[in-house]
This record gives sequence, structure tokens and C-alpha cells, in this order.
Amino acid sequence: MLDLLLSSHTEIESVGELRHLQEYYTNNESCMCGRPITECHFWSSVEGEVSRDSQFVKHNGLKSLQTKIRKGKHRMHQYLPSFIEIFLIFASKKMATKWGKYFPAVRDAMVTAENCIHICEAVSRVSGCPYIVDSSKWAEQFKAVYLLRPDLIKVIYLVRDGRGVACSQLRRSTLDMKKATLFWVLNNVKIMLMKLTVPNEKVLFVRYEDLCRNRRFEIPRILRFIGVMGQADDLRVRKVGGHNVGGSPHRFDRRQEEIILDEGWKERLSKADLAVFQRFGASVNRWLGYVE
Ligand SMILES: [Zn+2]
Repeated sequence: MLDLLLSSHTEIESVGELRHLQEYYTNNESCMCGRPITECHFWSSVEGEVSRDSQFVKHNGLKSLQTKIRKGKHRMHQYLPSFIEIFLIFASKKMATKWGKYFPAVRDAMVTAENCIHICEAVSRVSGCPYIVDSSKWAEQFKAVYLLRPDLIKVIYLVRDGRGVACSQLRRSTLDMKKATLFWVLNNVKIMLMKLTVPNEKVLFVRYEDLCRNRRFEIPRILRFIGVMGQADDLRVRKVGGHNVGGSPHRFDRRQEEIILDEGWKERLSKADLAVFQRFGASVNRWLGYVE
């Protein structure tokens, strides 16, 4: 939802979760504007812009450009990080260039990152906005594009109380509490480790709960970090005129204009669920500043 809020700023455009773009083309899924993505005028214009780039002249439309880093996971190991995830978390640009010569997975990841950068540049030209928000969420997706263009990329590290995240995973997936907690722990550990390889000024830490409770302080702080001025009080969750892909199902709820604090997990999680979280996730939750 933060991406939709930010995209109501005149200098910011949001693309949703860019890593899903190729899948959207493969399955011709609905863009946020309501049209199938192949009929969306915005993405058609972006496709036209990408084609002008000499590097992509011969590409076969956006459907041919990979936007998601392939993790190469075996079903048995789906909750453990793969080689490419671990590599990208710790890699420098020099390592990516060198290892890319020998490891197809590294080469593949860097080509994907390059595609994402070119698509964002095309989105910027089409929308007229100098700042593009990609809410892809994966640490390795950010790190790969950061390695290619550290001058262009920053990350907003938005966290939420792990009990809230696990609770929403329980509702939306087939995971049990232990797996939902471990999944959340793993994602945050990956981001924390990745932060060690990225300068502090490139990462902004934001708590969802602070954002909801103290919007007047948090939104200007986020805008300053991005590098844009003003309009903080005018920003609303954009429901019309957006062309996001992927992301929360709430993006189709046209009534919600603010990011609203949802602490329903306090009622929904049972004592047994909370005990499981306490065992596997409490230390990471405390690390993120959730002390209760
Ligand atoms: Zn659209």
C-alpha cells in the first residue's frame, strides 16, 4: 500500500511488483487499471519505449524480458535460501562480474536486473516521473539492480510486527504457524545481512505501525529519503490511474485512501500460535524494535 500512497506524488510512479511483470504478460493478467495487461495503454507505451533502446531492439515485447530472479529452488528446500540468494546478498559488483563468467545463475540474475532497470527507465519516460517505486520486496531482487546501478537505487525497508505478517500468511496460504514464522524470519535475516553490503544512506528503515500512527512524521521522512519535496499531506492511496502489477489484493479496493493500522492478529492468533512465534520469531521481532 505504501507504493500506491507514494505514487500519488506528482514526481513518483509506482509499478507494483515489477518481478511479476513477465508472468502478467504470459498469463495476460489484469493490470490495476482493469484491462488485461496486453491491452493496457500504459504498458504498451512502456513496451514501445523499451524497444527504442538499441540493446532491446530485437526483443519480442515485454513478455520476452525476464523480470524475476530465478532462485532455482528444489521443492524440498523451498524454505532455505538458494545459491543465488546467498550469493547476491553478499556480492560486490566485482564478484558479480567475475562469477557471472562461470555461473549461469549469476549471469541470469544480472540480465534480469538489467531488464528491470531498462523497464523502469522506460516507465519514467512514459509517466514523466523521475522516481519509480518497485515493491518487489525480495532482498536479492534489490541487490542485483543495486549492483548494476548503485547511483540510481535506494531501498525502503518497511517492516511490520512479525506476528501480523505470520497471521496474514496463515489466512492467505497453506503455511502453518511455524513455517509462516520461519519464512518471515528468513526474509528479514536476508535483508539484515544484505544491509551490511549497502551504505546506510541507501536504506531507510520504516515500521508499518509507525507509518499508520504517525503519518505526519513518517511520510515527510520517506519523501526526503527519496529526494522529493512537499505534498506530504496530500498523498492518498492511489486507486485510479495506476497500472501496478502484483501486490496486495487491496489495490482493487477503491474505498481505502489511507494506510490503516491492522492489528487484527491480536485477536486472530491463538495462544498456541503466539507460543510458536515466541519460540522461532521473537528474537528477530525484538531486533526490529517490537518489544512487547
Ligand atoms: Zn494498466
